[in-house]
Formats: sequence, structure tokens, C-alpha cells
Amino acid sequence: MAIYDDCAYCGGKVVEKNIKKANFWGEELTALVDNVPAGVCTQCGEKYYKAEVLKVIEKIMKERSAIVSQAQVPVADFARANA
Ligand SMILES: [Zn+2]
Repeated sequence: MAIYDDCAYCGGKVVEKNIKKANFWGEELTALVDNVPAGVCTQCGEKYYKAEVLKVIEKIMKERSAIVSQAQVPVADFARANA
């Protein structure tokens, strides 16, 4: 279990959780990644990723490795919804 600093936004305690469908945006690929270890603020829910975790995410994005399924993600337009 990694140790995390208190939340930079609200000062809350940050505890490690296994994030499902964590999303990461790259130049070309958006990846949803299951079981990503991240620190989650117990007060505001802000997520913190360790550098070594982000390295693995970069590798996934670059090599498209460890892909277990494909998901179609809808793209919405805020202006339309708000018209
Ligand atoms: Zn917080």
C-alpha cells in the first residue's frame, strides 16, 4: 500500500483504492483502465496517482497493451443539452 500526502485541495485524508474504469486521455487513445491503484481523498474524492502508476498507464496508452475489451464512449455537446 502506497502512502499518500493529505489532499492538496481540502486537506482530507487520502487512502488507497483500486479504481475501476479510471480514464486517461492520450494524444490518440482514451483508455479506461480497471484496477488502477490510486489515492482517493476521503472528503472530496480527488484522485492521486503515483508516478510509477502513471508510467504503467503511459505504457498501456503507447503500446495498447493489456487491452481486455473495447467500449464505445458517447460524445455529448454541452451547448445542445443546455439550449
Ligand atoms: Zn480532498
